[in-house]
Amino acid sequence: MMLRTLSSMLAAIFNRPDAASPKIACFHCGELVRQKRAVPVVFDGVCRDVCCHGCAAILSTVEQLGQTEAYLARKQQLERPDA
Ligand SMILES: [Zn+2]
Repeated sequence: MMLRTLSSMLAAIFNRPDAASPKIACFHCGELVRQKRAVPVVFDGVCRDVCCHGCAAILSTVEQLGQTEAYLARKQQLERPDA
């Protein structure tokens, strides 16, 4: 009985992924990813978190091509279609 209570308490603690590692939205694609698995990438002089190295590579490429402003403008447009 005692052991059962303890194990269900432990299960309650370890089955709360959001408390242990909150999910964040990828800066590029919006995919939810656990914060500790996110890939940090510097984009437009700011450290952004993305979901994978693919998204990180895209941001690096955009920056290398000098398309940062165009990218940010497009992103803003997609996030706020009414604006
Ligand atoms: Zn992504």
